[in-house]
Amino acid sequence: MVECAEDGCGAEAVVELHVPWGANRRVCAGHARVIARQDGVVADPLEGHDEEWP
Ligand SMILES: [Zn+2]
Repeated sequence: MVECAEDGCGAEAVVELHVPWGANRRVCAGHARVIARQDGVVADPLEGHDEEWP
């Protein structure tokens, strides 16, 4: 599995975030919800995780 890219988070990454101010990162569903609220962020479900990120 891919681990969430956020510091101190060991949850499984289910979403790839495309952030305009930095590198793409793979994060868990919880972090994706928080980060994806910011302007310009695009969230792409990782392969096999489409159901976890509607
Ligand atoms: Zn996380």
